[in-house]
Amino acid sequence: MGESRQAEPAHTWSSLRSLAVSWGEARGYTVNLAVRLAQATRGQLAQCGLAEIRDWRDLGVSVERRALSSSGMLIRRDFPISVWVNAKDDWRRQRFTEGHEIAHFLLPSRYHLSPVLLEHMCDAYAAELLLSVSRVRGLASANDVLELANEACINISPVLNQVARTAWDPGFGIILVSEEKGFLLGALALTYPDRLAPYLA
Ligand SMILES: [Zn+2]
Repeated sequence: MGESRQAEPAHTWSSLRSLAVSWGEARGYTVNLAVRLAQATRGQLAQCGLAEIRDWRDLGVSVERRALSSSGMLIRRDFPISVWVNAKDDWRRQRFTEGHEIAHFLLPSRYHLSPVLLEHMCDAYAAELLLSVSRVRGLASANDVLELANEACINISPVLNQVARTAWDPGFGIILVSEEKGFLLGALALTYPDRLAPYLA
């Protein structure tokens, strides 16, 4: 029997959207709900033979690169899912934005949830969709972070956000500096914050 690699996107996404509503109504809308929703999404995609997200079209999502003032936008809340991303963003950022906008498709609109909470939820969804928290444990060096970012085709910052979400403590620090702007963008120091002090001075 021929095996179809193509998911049944409309069915998959509408069942995930129903799941989000039932969880939200039962226990409230939280960042943790978004993380669990991303895990459920990965589970459903894996059942359709899509263990890795490479081409969004396989998931029934159309992506267009446009001139935008923001990172991205969901074009409508019906099928097929259609997302615009900022053509000027680097491709890793675009990939993260695509995951973020899919979360907007699955979750209630900003008229029903606090916009700040909603944005946090969408970021958490995208991070977990593209890089499971279970994969960030055991990183031994900053280089491991870089390799994992390369493997998941995302930037370093969502990898670090996933690390921060775990209770695991890698015992090293990473500092993100903007070459262009010349200032510190962020820092992660888990075991020994004092080691970062010289760099932050
Ligand atoms: Zn958003």
